[in-house]
Amino acid sequence: MNIQDYLVPHHVDECLAMLNAWGGRGRLVAGGTDLVASLEYGKAQAEALIDISAMEDLMGFEIQDHELVVRAGSTHRQVSAAPRIRQLWPALSKACGSVGSPQIRNVATLAGNVVNAQPAADAAVALVALGARAEILSSGGRRLEAVENLYGGLGQSRIDSSREILVALRVPVPDAGEVNVYGRVSPRNSLCLPIVNAALSLKTAGGTVLSGRIAMGPVSDRPFRPERAEAALQGVALKDRAALSEVGRIAGEEANPRDSCLRGCSDYRRQLLTVLIRTLLEDAAAQTAEEA
Ligand SMILES: Cc1cc2nc3c(=O)[nH]c(=O)nc-3n(C[C@H](O)[C@H](O)[C@H](O)COP(=O)(O)OP(=O)(O)OC[C@H]3O[C@@H](n4cnc5c(N)ncnc54)[C@H](O)[C@@H]3O)c2cc1C
Repeated sequence: MNIQDYLVPHHVDECLAMLNAWGGRGRLVAGGTDLVASLEYGKAQAEALIDISAMEDLMGFEIQDHELVVRAGSTHRQVSAAPRIRQLWPALSKACGSVGSPQIRNVATLAGNVVNAQPAADAAVALVALGARAEILSSGGRRLEAVENLYGGLGQSRIDSSREILVALRVPVPDAGEVNVYGRVSPRNSLCLPIVNAALSLKTAGGTVLSGRIAMGPVSDRPFRPERAEAALQGVALKDRAALSEVGRIAGEEANPRDSCLRGCSDYRRQLLTVLIRTLLEDAAAQTAEEA
């Protein structure tokens, strides 16, 4: 690590000016739970760190124009503890609540979870299933990108944290009949990366799935959407357990988990996914039954 300066901007314009002044050699840091280790092990480089955790214009979340706007300073704890988010986006709430440990969740941000671009990232998997978009600012202007399009390979984000700021994540408000769920399988609840995780967001009417988005990790170089399983969801009756099992089977077949000495062999993880997706579909079915 060869950090020459540590800067603390108070608003977005000041932060962009700092990034520009360092000409690509400065880098944003939020909670630091990923970046500091990457710098230490030489996996990331920076000459200046620009700490965005005190920026008032990156704090908090609100519902605006039929979207939940989660600003980039929001931590996993803040998001998982918000009653409105738990009610409307249980997938996001639960995913954020399963990251790391209370200490990690107190400082680590959703934005960092997305930009770090790991396929197992719990909140990112939920955001992909929910069809979230990222709002990104640079000196060149503002752009909006689907979260699922921000991946350029394992650990490679299309957001350049030495020149751009992810200012907010925007999650559509579910319409009537829409449900979302999240689950993960890991050897213990805290301080443990998932063997597999998944989130589902379904549009339903009268107990039948109209369409659905599924995101799974870590079974690819990014949060992965199984296209055939999503297609198989269309028209499925949520009380048809055989059909739900079949969607789980197809999702498992499409996944490509690696053999891992930490996470288990590929076949085992594929089997887990099959069961996880079926179980999540059953949870979604129970949610729609409660709402009916
Ligand atoms: C012990 C431990 C356990 C963990 N367990 C889990 C787990 O169970 N599940 C999980 O998903 N993750 C886990 N993590 C990973 C980590 O906590 C998350 O990915 C976290 O959300 C990263 O957020 P951060 O604010 O700490 O990001 P940082 O480390 O500050 O930054 C990460 C990357 O994002 C960039 N960045 C940050 N904010 C912005 C922004 N607004 N705009 C542009 N670029 C930005 C940084 O430059 C850096 O490249 C764990 C980490 C540790 C240390």
